[in-house]
Amino acid sequence: MRKETLYYNGEWQQAQSTDYAEVINPTTEEVIGKVVNANQKDVDLAVAAAKFAFDEWNQTSPQVRADYVEKLLNGIKERKQDLMAIMIKELGTSAIFADQTQVGLAVDEMAGTLEEIRNYNFEEKVDNATVIKEGYGVVACITPWNYPLNQIQRKITPALLAGNTVVVKPPNLTPLTALLLAEIAHDAGLPKGVFNLVTGNGSETGDYLTSHPDVSVISFTGSTKVGSGLYEKAKTSIKQLVLELGGKSPMIYLKGGDLEVAVKNAADTVLHNQGQTCSALTRLFVPKDELERTKEVIKNYYKDIKVGDPAEDDTIVGPLVSEGQMETVLDYIEKGKKEGAEVLIGGNKMDRTGYYVEPTVFVNVTNDMTIAQEEIFGPVLVVITYDSVDEAIELANDSIYGLSGGVVGPEEEAIKVARRIRTGNILINGADRTPKAPFGGYKQSGRGRENGLYGVEDYFEIKAIFN
Ligand code: NAD
Repeated sequence: MRKETLYYNGEWQQAQSTDYAEVINPTTEEVIGKVVNANQKDVDLAVAAAKFAFDEWNQTSPQVRADYVEKLLNGIKERKQDLMAIMIKELGTSAIFADQTQVGLAVDEMAGTLEEIRNYNFEEKVDNATVIKEGYGVVACITPWNYPLNQIQRKITPALLAGNTVVVKPPNLTPLTALLLAEIAHDAGLPKGVFNLVTGNGSETGDYLTSHPDVSVISFTGSTKVGSGLYEKAKTSIKQLVLELGGKSPMIYLKGGDLEVAVKNAADTVLHNQGQTCSALTRLFVPKDELERTKEVIKNYYKDIKVGDPAEDDTIVGPLVSEGQMETVLDYIEKGKKEGAEVLIGGNKMDRTGYYVEPTVFVNVTNDMTIAQEEIFGPVLVVITYDSVDEAIELANDSIYGLSGGVVGPEEEAIKVARRIRTGNILINGADRTPKAPFGGYKQSGRGRENGLYGVEDYFEIKAIFN
């Protein structure tokens, strides 16, 4: 695979920039590749290609656009093993998670959006007006490293289906999956300039791309800190903005529910992908008099969790993505200890090669502690007790974030509680999430939604033609 070139205008291009970033395997700590830090000239060329391709793509019928996106989906399915192998190496995600979620979910969500759009009316009559839904123009897709395929998929699928062209900038920690996706897009035969990709860092390549006057939409997934800067930027130049940001999501266990389901649901989100998941259910709320039982259930669940080489089939927890991320997580663990929380499980760096932190569970946590308020983005679960259901809801909502959540308890009561939680998604009693449903955050977890029709609608301009 090409790692030292950029992809735009339907071709692999030699970069103007001579600056490179190394890609490191977090399991072995070895350099496994290098990618270009695209400079302003590179970005200008990629945006120009996307701008040139826009008019024809926007005028192409929605069904034909969907046919192209379907070819891209088929390419992803065909190259599934290659995609998995790369993300295991550059992210350290486990093989099982790469299979079922990293690629599996991307495929399901893409198929779901395609199915919805095939039956969607892009035009409707309102008296003497024909109301048309069409693309904005060029979309800058800025993505994080934790789901190196699906975060891109969640942007390019709706953007392309709506009639936009895209310039993707993946993160420098996991750019190799994105470069393979560009190869797949090339093989799918998308028209020149419809899909473009530049690698590079955030502070220069990303900053320049999102400031570009020929970019009409900034679609960003990443930290709330960077997202709020982009909010300001989009405001100044009146760009459309889609923001998918951080989270600190609650799982509320209600008396009478299945405690094992509650623990499994919360724990799985902080164990798989090493807790580097925006929607992870990192705060487990349990009734005060059920704390001792909860501790036993947690210990019992964690005893069978294998931490190890992510390439091995039975590994659940691998390394964190980078040394920096590992240090951040260890700092949070130290803060938790200092602020008086009690370590039930783990709490240390692991003595082995790679950026491994022990799966960690804190009890005796209060909602005002740093580890209960800030996004740790590591394998850390905090357990907080409550006296009444009203208090549990109040504590769950006492967060700057509002991305996801879960409630486990008697179904009717759980749904009532879910309606009062201020987050974009809530899973009741471990329910599955249909890939066609909207995903996105309240409060500082973001603006806009991804997936299904809700996702596509964020990428529509709306025009009324009167005759
Ligand atoms: P990040 O904000 O550091 O970086 C995200 C992307 O933005 C990267 O491609 C980076 O290069 C780029 N970037 C950084 N600074 C930039 C700037 N000034 N201008 C333009 N681009 C810039 O986030 P991260 O560490 O890669 O990802 C982790 C964060 O992403 C977590 O907070 C997580 O919750 C969030 N996230 C949210 C969702 C969601 O759907 N809500 C999904 C996954 C991750």
